[in-house]
Amino acid sequence: MSGTPASRHHARTGAVLACVVAVSVAVPSGRAAAQLAPASFADLAKQPGEPQIPNLKIVYLHPLGNREEARHWKYIIVHQTEGPAGSAYSLAQQQFKNPTKRGVTIWVEIDGTVYWSVAETAIPTHGDGANRNDNKYVDNTKTYRSVVKTNSLGVEFVGNYPDVRNPVSAEQMKAWLTLLPFLQERYSIAADNVYAHNWIDFKDRRYCEGCDLGSAARKLGYVPGKSAAAASQAR
Ligand SMILES: [Zn+2]
Repeated sequence: MSGTPASRHHARTGAVLACVVAVSVAVPSGRAAAQLAPASFADLAKQPGEPQIPNLKIVYLHPLGNREEARHWKYIIVHQTEGPAGSAYSLAQQQFKNPTKRGVTIWVEIDGTVYWSVAETAIPTHGDGANRNDNKYVDNTKTYRSVVKTNSLGVEFVGNYPDVRNPVSAEQMKAWLTLLPFLQERYSIAADNVYAHNWIDFKDRRYCEGCDLGSAARKLGYVPGKSAAAASQAR
């Protein structure tokens, strides 16, 4: 799928797995994000490089930079790829090679591993222009033609193939609810600004893309910390 010779692909996969193992050893176990003091989690969320989020396997194909340079992210749109299990790394790698292609910044495998594919300042092409205007799921007056790729960080979940109605795995949902506070904190994004793709664009009728994930995000209701909120108001 990636066009990479099998031997090289396996070598790279091995390197990534080795990286994940090393990371899991380095991260103290049993310290959930919610259990950390708010200030320390907020500090973690501001870091450049490859910050490791407690209880999450995250692999950075491209490191984070200065978050002040990524202030364009006002919303998060959650997607499902309609692709098979096992494809997240390959898709992230393709995005890494061509950051503005159709796709997103973050890809989540069915085992819950998160791949951050491109610089956080890059604008991958996702969404369909926020064309939904029927208020079926959310108030679309707040989204119509305004929640678009230039201001929305995209997260894709793989694995709803061959049946698009396959729900995300328990590991993916856990990873989402662990990753999301980090993203909300880093970019000062309220839970009300997290959208399932199907909530903002007219998608096909076979299933509701991203809806379980979007609903879980709203239910979690994470509020970015005071320092992040103050920074947001100061902008
Ligand atoms: Zn989508």
